[in-house]
Amino acid sequence: MKKFFLTTSALCFLTGFVFSQTDIPLQYVQTITEQGLKKQLTIVASAEMEGRETGTEGQQKAAAYIESQFKEIELEAPASLKGYQQFYPLLKDTLIPKKLKIGKMKLEYGKDYILQPGSDAENKITAKEVVFAGYGIEDKNYDDYAGKNVTGKIVVIISGEPQVDGKYLVSGTDKRSSWGYSTTRKAALAKEKGAVALLLVNPTWDSIPSRIAESSKKTNLYFPHLNSKGRVAVITLVSSVLKNIIGENDAASVLEKVKAKGALNTFLIDKKIKTILSFKKTSITVDASNVIGYVEGTDKKDEYVFLTAHYDHLGKKGDVIYYGADDDGSGTVSVIEMARAFAKAKKDGHGPRRTVVFMTVSGEEKGLWGSEYYSDHPVFPLDSTTVDLNTDMIGRIDPNRKHGDSTNYVYVIGNDKLSSDLDPISKAINEKYSHLELDYKFNAPDDPERIYYRSDHYNFARKGVPIIFFFDGIHKDYHKPSDTVDKINFDLMEKRARFIFLTAWEMANRDDMLKRDIPLPEEVR
Ligand SMILES: [Zn+2]
Repeated sequence: MKKFFLTTSALCFLTGFVFSQTDIPLQYVQTITEQGLKKQLTIVASAEMEGRETGTEGQQKAAAYIESQFKEIELEAPASLKGYQQFYPLLKDTLIPKKLKIGKMKLEYGKDYILQPGSDAENKITAKEVVFAGYGIEDKNYDDYAGKNVTGKIVVIISGEPQVDGKYLVSGTDKRSSWGYSTTRKAALAKEKGAVALLLVNPTWDSIPSRIAESSKKTNLYFPHLNSKGRVAVITLVSSVLKNIIGENDAASVLEKVKAKGALNTFLIDKKIKTILSFKKTSITVDASNVIGYVEGTDKKDEYVFLTAHYDHLGKKGDVIYYGADDDGSGTVSVIEMARAFAKAKKDGHGPRRTVVFMTVSGEEKGLWGSEYYSDHPVFPLDSTTVDLNTDMIGRIDPNRKHGDSTNYVYVIGNDKLSSDLDPISKAINEKYSHLELDYKFNAPDDPERIYYRSDHYNFARKGVPIIFFFDGIHKDYHKPSDTVDKINFDLMEKRARFIFLTAWEMANRDDMLKRDIPLPEEVR
């Protein structure tokens, strides 16, 4: 077979191009069905998989299941791997706090403070001075560290970011910045400034919520490179402790301003307060994995189309399982069923010209770890990877989408970035076959949800690989135990999966790889 219909240009069929032969992809797209997707999802999002948390047995079970499906479909396994799994190491820490003393005050673990995951490997930290550094931010428009030296000291900051009259001081607009929620970013800055530990006061906490106190005592799992950069120990404190550190008056005025959503003057208070923090830490390495299989191409087999989704989810808390049927069981089983359709086409002599790679990753919910690992250790050259089509949540209806046909849409993200080919191709495929409402809401450059940066495709995009991300929106069961199979709209999921398959089919069969002619805008942090 032949090249596919967009080989001359997208225009040809927009202006009435008629496909000349039996429409081959249609024979195979029909094998992606509601029933098939439901059968798969009932297994992937079952209690048996225990919520598929990265680094747990549940994740390993899910990986083994996906592997068994890839085998059944007779996908090829990458030669550089043993089987279909690409393993990557994670560190698992157990932190046992022994003592925190600030001046004369002894603090109690789980009541006054908790330690954050990935805290530094030092077992004991002693500092003679404590510095209060506002929100602990250093940015273009706003700097809490200006003119101060915190080397060798312990830095105390408030969580969140400053805001005055609804305007965030970092962005200068009504948009929040990542400083507001990224403790990692504040910790990295404190480390860079030479601080030995970071005390993070949560102004809304009178006491540590018991759920958080409980989970902080458990083992923590993290991506090794986060640690290799070195991290300061991060201790989260309840608000009442602040007065013992910076004095009653200053603490009261700070907390009042934070509460009123006012600016904190960028004042720093240096106090000679001896602080001792000690804890015991043990680390072990555990392996997580991405599951990768492919259908080899014909005349362009050294070029690659990727279809990705993440198979990990949030695991279980106590006896409560987070099933993750939509997030991202829906994408995972779509990848499996798309693989089945491509493999069948290949068997019938209609295999794709480019190699189509099916990759389900783990670590997504922890911070896009699996895809980050893949993009830093690619199995197939990223320069020859024409596109990544990433599917993360396509089984539900967005309750906030008030316009259009709620049973016939998909959010499309990223098709105006990196390659000017993406948009005309996806629109043309849709016009020819799928007739979905392609909704670009989450693609808006100022989208506050920052969706473009929040799933695995981003790790392809940061390496220059054009991507499209398919998504259904945020619903009330998002990241809740109630994200279950019975709430999936399989009719709509089938339409979306078929659209993604047809898009992949075109990308795999057109004459040229997608051109890379649009630079990726720098992440709006
Ligand atoms: Zn997800």
